Amino acid sequence: MKICVDRDKCQDHGQCVIAAPDIFRFGEDGTLLYESHVDESLRDSAEEAADVCPEQAITIMDE
Ligand code: SF4
Repeated sequence: MKICVDRDKCQDHGQCVIAAPDIFRFGEDGTLLYESHVDESLRDSAEEAADVCPEQAITIMDE
């Protein structure tokens, strides 16, 4: 599946990093980095990250 973060909405809160550390992390400069193509086995944590994002910035798409 494909993950997309709307950079205009994202405020680098980091809830997604806590919910799905296999997909989201912070770079050395504090900006959010993420895997844009992830294995189906990570769907639950991806959906959890999308749910907890306070800006609703995360979109999950099937490929
Ligand atoms: S939880 Fe949402 S707003 Fe916060 S860093 Fe993740 S994508 Fe950005």
